[in-house]
Amino acid sequence: MRYFPLFADLHDRRVLVVGGGIVAVRKVRLLLEAGAQVTVVAPDIGAALARMAEEGRDEGRLTLRRETFRAGHFDGVVLAIAATDDPAVNARVAATGRERNVLVNVVDVAELSSFIVPAIVDRSPLVIAISSGGVAPVLARAVRERIESLFDGSLGQFAALLERWRGRIKQRLPDVAARRRFYERLLRGSVADLVRRRNVEAAERALESELARGSTSPRGSVVLVGAGPGDAGLLTLNGLRALQDADVILHDRLVSNEVLELARRDAVKIGVGKAAHDHSVTQDTIHELMLEHARAGRRVVRLKGGDPFIFGRGGEELEFLAAHGIPFEVVPGITAAIACGAYAGIPLTHREHAQSVRLVTAHCGDSLDTLDWSALGRERQTIALYMGVAGLDRIRARLIEHGRSPQTPVAIVENGSRPEQRVVLATLGELETAGRAAQVKSPALVIVGEVAALAVELHWFGRAPLSWRQLQQAA
Ligand code: SAH
Repeated sequence: MRYFPLFADLHDRRVLVVGGGIVAVRKVRLLLEAGAQVTVVAPDIGAALARMAEEGRDEGRLTLRRETFRAGHFDGVVLAIAATDDPAVNARVAATGRERNVLVNVVDVAELSSFIVPAIVDRSPLVIAISSGGVAPVLARAVRERIESLFDGSLGQFAALLERWRGRIKQRLPDVAARRRFYERLLRGSVADLVRRRNVEAAERALESELARGSTSPRGSVVLVGAGPGDAGLLTLNGLRALQDADVILHDRLVSNEVLELARRDAVKIGVGKAAHDHSVTQDTIHELMLEHARAGRRVVRLKGGDPFIFGRGGEELEFLAAHGIPFEVVPGITAAIACGAYAGIPLTHREHAQSVRLVTAHCGDSLDTLDWSALGRERQTIALYMGVAGLDRIRARLIEHGRSPQTPVAIVENGSRPEQRVVLATLGELETAGRAAQVKSPALVIVGEVAALAVELHWFGRAPLSWRQLQQAA
């Protein structure tokens, strides 16, 4: 190891920053956050630094000296940073530091530096510092971004909570090994969950009672996660974290392998998919599975295609969990309508064509008959029909019957956002024939409205949209 990693206490210590530009600003800001007394030396001091001093955000700890650097500026200083764009000045600062035994960092020049500054992930009081020893700053930044995505903002609050309780925990559990075990379980238990749900008060109460018992029981929980439409890049960071934290994942058929691969390697993955006509795994079985695993103290992720609250029975599952006292969280996902619109180049609303959008389920059978067709038949709105593949003919007939023009553009988006995505464009009058000719299969979303025609011009993903005319020619 070329460098010795350390966190320095700079509170009320004097630090010299040579340079007055934007690089200096970044360093000064961080130093002030760490409580240092900062002196900036540069003949030209930029507006940003001047503003910082004027607005008093520095609490009087920032001194600006519009002078050229000289060795005397090192008097009383514990640390110095050279942040000028003049290599000669930077070299002089480095040399002065060596003479005076003061550690100096020359920004981005490791050879001249006696200390280097790491990339950081700040979840104060928890701070993660990453360094490539000045060899590959890009790599260090990439690692930083990765870590940044792994821990959400509640980590700092959790660390602060531990800080508040440290004394009491030590008193209650004087044995080091027992204390470590307690902390370890705390990390994966309900206290951490409650902090993540930003309910710090409840977390404090839970911690208090666990401490009174002298042990933590791993509390099972369920996170209802929306996996999005297929493209794993559309999963949210919170969704990713839940997957990497899961003991058991109960996933739908619609969830892509690409998303499942992001899960923790040793998580148990159970497919509970339901096809439209094959109810092999019933909703009751899914409820029982969630309950069984959560009660065994496991962290369960219930992973659903798209968004869990849009035609995903997420509401029912949460009602069941609530009735059985199982704690839960919800991570939204990108629903098929939003994704298919985006990936087919169909803006669902448009100033000239549609002022509203309706998400409608056209699931086989009764639901088609109970829809408010007269509302759906109105012009200047976009309708996104889920689960509509089997009912294309009835959708066409009802919409036209209730006033929508047979010339209204429609798009059928099959496998939206996935590599095999297909977009079929037709008019409402041709909806069923076009769907049949293209042999559209589930999952597919039907978009009805003027905006559908924009796909011709705005498509950008996968194959170009197929028009009904092309389909006829191919036949
Ligand atoms: N909760 C899901 C919807 C579940 S209902 C969501 O928010 O997206 C299942 C229906 O969603 C499918 O029949 C289809 O109409 C639609 N769907 C889901 N994923 C899709 C995809 N990748 N492309 C097109 N339609 C999709």
